[in-house]
Amino acid sequence: MKHIKIKNTNDLIPVGKIICIGRNYLEHAAEMKAEVPESPVIFLKPSTALVYDGDKIIIPKISNNMHHEVELVVAINEEGKNIKAEDAEKFILGYAIGLDMTLRDVQSEAKKKGLPWSIAKGFDTSAPISDIISANEIKNPHNLELICKVNGEIRQKGSTGKMIFKIDKLIEYISTIFTLERGDLIFTGTPEGVSQIHPGDIIESEIYGIIKIKNFVVAEI
Ligand code: MG
Repeated sequence: MKHIKIKNTNDLIPVGKIICIGRNYLEHAAEMKAEVPESPVIFLKPSTALVYDGDKIIIPKISNNMHHEVELVVAINEEGKNIKAEDAEKFILGYAIGLDMTLRDVQSEAKKKGLPWSIAKGFDTSAPISDIISANEIKNPHNLELICKVNGEIRQKGSTGKMIFKIDKLIEYISTIFTLERGDLIFTGTPEGVSQIHPGDIIESEIYGIIKIKNFVVAEI
């Protein structure tokens, strides 16, 4: 079983669903040459996709083009269905920095054929995540800077203020479809600047000034 850890505590919480939002930043939708959606684009990763600070990210043999997507992650505190946006805050346990690692070649092929993204987005090690920062330590989750560096060079830098669908609206929408439960995670989408990574690369992901993780890229053998 995979767990998430609350920072500065010994609390471990079993991870439930990992719900991911696609195209939630204008400039990223543009760089993917994708339309801006009218309602949130949702896909899921299995909990087995999680890895943690210091862990390896393994490029599976089925891909020659893995991308990083740095994202703010929301952790859910308690069960809720049909949550109203104005109540959404009560259901938030905290926030983390995460990576939605993506097999871009596998995803492009799936898009062409109208097939699901489960393999492109849900493979083992596709969801590196930090410890959870308690919600009460982050006054405004839409005033955070997300940064992703590869081998020390900044590839992504974007403000969570630029999300198309804000966190309260995401929770409202998602909870009409899936009952949210304690330990569920929401990856809220990536700003622009996604790029290919290679074996030997070091990826550093950060909520600027708040928390960071480092992961090492290797090829599957
Ligand atoms: Mg993403």
